[in-house]
Amino acid sequence: MLDQKLLSILACPVCKGDLQYDQAAKELICLADAMAFPVKDDVPVMLSNEAREMSLQETEKYR
Ligand SMILES: [Zn+2]
Repeated sequence: MLDQKLLSILACPVCKGDLQYDQAAKELICLADAMAFPVKDDVPVMLSNEAREMSLQETEKYR
Protein backbone atom coordinates (compact mmCIF):
# COMPACT_ATOMS: atom_id res chain seq x y z
CA MET A 1 0.00 0.00 0.00
CA LEU A 2 1.45 3.30 -1.05
CA ASP A 3 1.16 6.31 1.18
CA GLN A 4 -1.20 8.92 -0.24
CA LYS A 5 1.22 11.71 0.68
CA LEU A 6 4.06 9.99 -1.11
CA LEU A 7 1.82 9.41 -4.06
CA SER A 8 0.90 13.08 -4.24
CA ILE A 9 4.53 14.24 -4.40
CA LEU A 10 5.63 11.71 -6.97
CA ALA A 11 5.96 12.91 -10.51
CA CYS A 12 6.91 11.31 -13.76
CA PRO A 13 10.72 11.51 -14.21
CA VAL A 14 10.28 12.05 -17.93
CA CYS A 15 7.62 14.77 -18.21
CA LYS A 16 7.25 15.76 -14.50
CA GLY A 17 3.55 15.16 -14.86
CA ASP A 18 1.09 13.52 -12.51
CA LEU A 19 0.99 9.79 -12.06
CA GLN A 20 -1.88 7.44 -11.42
CA TYR A 21 -1.44 4.49 -9.15
CA ASP A 22 -2.78 1.16 -10.26
CA GLN A 23 -3.03 -0.70 -7.01
CA ALA A 24 -3.82 -4.05 -8.59
CA ALA A 25 -0.93 -3.94 -11.03
CA LYS A 26 1.38 -2.16 -8.55
CA GLU A 27 2.37 0.32 -11.19
CA LEU A 28 2.47 4.08 -11.44
CA ILE A 29 1.04 5.22 -14.72
CA CYS A 30 2.03 8.28 -16.74
CA LEU A 31 -0.63 8.82 -19.35
CA ALA A 32 1.33 11.51 -21.19
CA ASP A 33 4.22 9.14 -21.88
CA ALA A 34 2.18 5.92 -21.86
CA MET A 35 4.63 4.47 -19.38
CA ALA A 36 4.13 2.34 -16.30
CA PHE A 37 6.64 2.54 -13.46
CA PRO A 38 6.91 -0.50 -11.20
CA VAL A 39 6.40 -0.40 -7.44
CA LYS A 40 8.71 -2.92 -5.83
CA ASP A 41 8.13 -3.73 -2.14
CA ASP A 42 6.09 -0.53 -1.86
CA VAL A 43 8.96 1.51 -3.25
CA PRO A 44 8.21 3.29 -6.52
CA VAL A 45 10.95 2.82 -9.08
CA MET A 46 10.98 6.14 -10.87
CA LEU A 47 13.46 5.27 -13.59
CA SER A 48 12.53 5.52 -17.23
CA ASN A 49 14.69 2.51 -18.10
CA GLU A 50 12.75 0.40 -15.57
CA ALA A 51 9.40 1.54 -16.89
CA ARG A 52 7.13 -0.48 -19.09
CA GLU A 53 5.78 1.04 -22.24
CA MET A 54 2.03 0.87 -22.53
CA SER A 55 -0.05 0.59 -25.62
CA LEU A 56 -2.50 3.38 -26.34
CA GLN A 57 -5.28 0.90 -25.86
CA GLU A 58 -3.97 0.09 -22.40
CA THR A 59 -3.83 3.74 -21.36
CA GLU A 60 -7.50 4.15 -22.23
CA LYS A 61 -8.61 2.43 -19.05
CA TYR A 62 -6.91 5.11 -16.93
CA ARG A 63 -8.52 8.05 -18.66
ZN1 LIG B 1 5.45 11.35 -18.05
